[in-house]
Amino acid sequence: MSSALVGSSLVSSAGATLGCGDAPVLRERGQREVFCGLTGIIWLHRKIQDAFFLVVGSRTCAHLIQSAAGVMIFAEPRFATAIIDERDLAGMADANDELDRVVDQLLARRPEIRLLFLVGSCPSEVIKLDLSRAAERLSATHMPQVRVLNYSGSGIETTFTQGEDACLASLVPILPRETPGAAPSLLVVGALAEVVEDQLRRLLEGLGIGDVWFMPPRSALALPPVGPNTRYLLAQPFLADTARALEARGAVRLPAPFPLGAEGTTAWLQAAADAWGVTPERFDAVTRAPLGRARQALARHREQLAGKSVFFFPDSQLEIPLARFLAREMDMRLIEVGTPYLHRQHLAEELAWLPAGTALSEGQDVDRQLDRARAARPDLVVCGLGLANPLEAEGIGTKWSIELLFTPIQGYDQAADLAELFARPLNRRLRLRV
Ligand code: SF4
Repeated sequence: MSSALVGSSLVSSAGATLGCGDAPVLRERGQREVFCGLTGIIWLHRKIQDAFFLVVGSRTCAHLIQSAAGVMIFAEPRFATAIIDERDLAGMADANDELDRVVDQLLARRPEIRLLFLVGSCPSEVIKLDLSRAAERLSATHMPQVRVLNYSGSGIETTFTQGEDACLASLVPILPRETPGAAPSLLVVGALAEVVEDQLRRLLEGLGIGDVWFMPPRSALALPPVGPNTRYLLAQPFLADTARALEARGAVRLPAPFPLGAEGTTAWLQAAADAWGVTPERFDAVTRAPLGRARQALARHREQLAGKSVFFFPDSQLEIPLARFLAREMDMRLIEVGTPYLHRQHLAEELAWLPAGTALSEGQDVDRQLDRARAARPDLVVCGLGLANPLEAEGIGTKWSIELLFTPIQGYDQAADLAELFARPLNRRLRLRV
C-alpha cells in the first residue's frame, strides 16, 4: 500500500493482531530535526561515576555538550572535547599523537578515571581518524588502571538517544563472562536515575529475584557478568545494538513493555516474575501498595489530561511507550505518534497496547509533519527544542522530549511525575489564557 505523499510510504507488516501490532506505518525520509548522539553524554557521565567521555570533535561539538550540560554541572565534569582542527590526511599521524597527549594529560590529572570513552563525531577530520585503533593503543598503554573504549555520537550516524545505545554496545565486549553453572541473573539494560534504579532493585529483590545487575553500572569496577544464564530486561526502548551484542553473548531478552506508568511498570516486573516462577500471591503482595499509590497519584492528573490531544514528533524513541501511557492511563487522544526508528520486536508489547487505528510514523520529513500537526491543532506537541518555539508562537502547547530523558520517569513512584510533565505545559497555557 502506498500513500499519495512523495518521499513517504505507508507500510503494513504482518505481526500481532491486537492494538497497533500490525498497523500501517507512515515511513518518511526527509529533513530531520533531532540532536546528535553526543547528547547522551549528558546523562551517561553522571551515571558511570568513574568514567570519562572524551569527545573527539570540533568546536561545534564542544559547544553542544557544554551548553546542553552547562546548567547541570556542579562538580568537575566527566566529559571534555579534544578539538581536532582542520587537517589533511598527511596530518593524521599528528592527530593521533595529539590525542595520545591529551589522554595522557587527562589521566594524569584525573587518577579516579577507570573507563575512558573516545566519542567520535561528524567533522571529516574525525571521520578520518581510526578511533577504534586509538582506543586499543591507549588501552594497552594505560592498562590495567584504565580501559579505553570508543563509539560514535556523530550526527550523521546517530540521533540523541542512539548515543547511549552506541556507548552501551561498546561496553559489551569487556563485560566479564558469567561463572559456568551460575544461577540465572537478571540484567536491567538502559540508564536510569539512581532513585529509580534503587526502587526497581528493591521490588525485584522483594519478588525473590536474586543477582540483579544494572547496565550501565555506577562504577566501571562493577561490570555485570553476561552469558547464556543472563536474562535481560530493557529499561529503555532505544537499545537495539546493545541488545544484539548481549544476545551474541548468549543473554536472553525478556519481552515486556517499558516501565512507564503504573501499568507499564507492573507488566515489566511481571515479565521478570514469570521468568523466575514467582507466585501470583507473592507478586501481588510486593506490588499492591506501590501500584495503589501510583494509581491514586495518577488520578489527579487524569482529570486534567483526559480528552486532550497529543502529537509526537520523532525524537527520543520513547514516543511509543509514552503514547501508550498517555492513551491508556491518562485517557489522552493520540493524533500522531512519530518515532525515529520503530523496532517492532522490542516494541511489540507496546504496539499491542496502543489504541487501534493510532497514526504511526517512522523517520521524518519535518515540513510535512509540521503541516500535519498544524492541521490537527493538538492540545500538546511533544518535540525537540528546535520545533518547540515556533509551535508555541503559533499557539500550540509543547513539551520538550529531551526532558523525558533528564527526569526520573520510570517505576511506580515516578508515574505521577511523568504525568505531570505533560500536565504542566497545559496548565501554563490555561493560566496564560486566564
Ligand atoms: Fe554537530 Fe556532528 Fe558535533 Fe553533533 S557530532 S555536535 S552533529 S558536528
